[in-house]
Amino acid sequence: MTLDTLVMQAAKRLRQAGSSSPRLDADVLLCHVLGRERAWLYTWGDKPCPTWQHARFDALIAARVQGMPVAYLTGEREFWGLRLATSPETLIPRPDTETLVEAALAQGSQPGGRLLDLGSGTGAIALAFASERPGWQVEGVDIREQAVALARHNAQRLALANATFQLSDWFAALDDATRFDVILSNPPYIAADDPHLMQGDVRFEPASALVAEQSGLADLYHLIASASTYLEIGGWLLLEHGYTQALAVQQALREAGYVEVQSRRDLGGHERVTLGRWLPT
Ligand code: GLN
Repeated sequence: MTLDTLVMQAAKRLRQAGSSSPRLDADVLLCHVLGRERAWLYTWGDKPCPTWQHARFDALIAARVQGMPVAYLTGEREFWGLRLATSPETLIPRPDTETLVEAALAQGSQPGGRLLDLGSGTGAIALAFASERPGWQVEGVDIREQAVALARHNAQRLALANATFQLSDWFAALDDATRFDVILSNPPYIAADDPHLMQGDVRFEPASALVAEQSGLADLYHLIASASTYLEIGGWLLLEHGYTQALAVQQALREAGYVEVQSRRDLGGHERVTLGRWLPT
């Protein structure tokens, strides 16, 4: 069977299983098995598929039919043009989160500074920022040992020596005297009873990275209450949140004494990121 036929048949199975991107999923999984780029597949699609690779591809498609995220099957995902290793221990980097990176780059436009990413997971946000601001010292913290190891691995793979990662429950392991110009986070913000948790990739992702108490707001509130201790005067706190949470986050930031509070929209047009400046009078 040719590679083209193989992809077409797999895409059909994935479509029937309810994937929203069946052709892309099939392409990405076949390229992973073959160790090739997609452009190669488009050129050489009339070649036959070697037997063992065919078998490996069938196994991956079967897992995808069960709903397993493509990024966990391939062990990687692209974010901000960076190829990142992923693991079921961490959230899969999402395009929506590029809004947070863009906002951080806009506030952290000076050549040097310090940035802290809370709950860094794969390291996606910290590494995207570090790749754009080589003069900055970028630090990520995560409560999961496996996430810290993965982020360090990603930093090394991308040769981003200005990004470091350590184990910490939010700010707990940080020295009280440390100050950052930018603090940001994509914390858990989904309510435990949100039906969204029953659909698609999120079913396979760690609940600890997705779900928060108080209708999803508990961790956002905790970060807003504690971050200013670690911010330089004039520094910025930036938070990703659910698209119905912008007003609650804005209000909490103002009550905590932040100024210039504003929200940013994601690619889908939803208010996804809210930021405020720590400028106590
Ligand atoms: N945006 C993600 C989703 O809706 C959730 C990310 C998070 O909770 N931090 O699937």
